[in-house]
Amino acid sequence: MTIVDTPPQRTLTTRPYVVSTVRQQTHDIVTVDIRPEREAIAFAPGQFDMIYVYGVGEAALSISSDPAAPQLLSHTIRAVGWVTRALNHLQPGTTIGVRGPYGRPWPLADAEGRDLVVIAGGIGLAPVRPALLAALAQRERFRRVVLLVGARSPRDLVFRDDLDVWAADPAIDVHVTVDSAVRGWVGRVGVVTKLIPAVPFDPEDAVALVCGPEVMMRFAAEGLIARGMPTDRIHVTLERNMRCGVGTCGHCQLGPTLLCRDGPVYAWPEVGELMSVREL
Ligand SMILES: Cc1cc2nc3c(=O)[nH]c(=O)nc-3n(C[C@H](O)[C@H](O)[C@H](O)COP(=O)(O)OP(=O)(O)OC[C@H]3O[C@@H](n4cnc5c(N)ncnc54)[C@H](O)[C@@H]3O)c2cc1C
Repeated sequence: MTIVDTPPQRTLTTRPYVVSTVRQQTHDIVTVDIRPEREAIAFAPGQFDMIYVYGVGEAALSISSDPAAPQLLSHTIRAVGWVTRALNHLQPGTTIGVRGPYGRPWPLADAEGRDLVVIAGGIGLAPVRPALLAALAQRERFRRVVLLVGARSPRDLVFRDDLDVWAADPAIDVHVTVDSAVRGWVGRVGVVTKLIPAVPFDPEDAVALVCGPEVMMRFAAEGLIARGMPTDRIHVTLERNMRCGVGTCGHCQLGPTLLCRDGPVYAWPEVGELMSVREL
């Protein structure tokens, strides 16, 4: 299969992809694996696609698969409305439309020679997963690779197979916690941001990638700054209601910035204050 290497897209053209598998992650989250009918398009960790379910509508979805294998693209989707519910019920063999990849990716190159700290809450593991896979594929470029994962309960953890593999891999230091445990859970209990003060990494020479609910990202940034991490090495990825994906419609505006054009990945100084304004 041909893989086309392109810069961030501005095109509105939708390309056909065929669903190969739908994997249940939690009761309301699935990962949909798709293959292009024509050529595959390269993407960078942190980018997103606009996914079109024919006859239903379109949604912005982060790519959750390995950037080294763009011929099998995955998106991990929580059912919240029409499009995401339809995506949760897709059958293998169905054709869907994809345009993208769009958006500013995670600045993985800035972490080279430094500690890489990835903090994910709930489905927030999906948009950082490509960055983790890329970092592990070029492990020698980074010093420590640390992953902190939080979920509401054990049944809300996504990518459990990956977490098991990574927990056994000395190349990555994995810490998983849940807000509330159930019978049989022997892991940590408490919110993910509580792990930040004690986990071994060098805050003055590290880069952090943070993805989860906005309140979690705010507390994570506070915790990292309190440990001495420079604010411009903390990166978050944001979500807003998005329509065009290419910076023309204005739906995903956050203060002076359009998420689709300038984000969705931002350095903390770019959005920290905006994120503390209620309802913005
Ligand atoms: C850059 C980007 C990446 C995203 N990545 C993912 C992903 O990987 N997985 C995933 O499950 N979702 C992701 N989302 C959110 C996803 O786009 C929305 O959940 C989806 O568009 C909802 O469409 P719908 O038709 O199912 O629901 P709708 O009927 O359109 O909406 C259902 C409810 O969700 C609200 N809503 C819609 N979009 C958003 C949004 N972006 N943020 C907050 N609330 C919203 C609506 O106001 C409404 O209350 C991402 C959003 C952006 C902007």
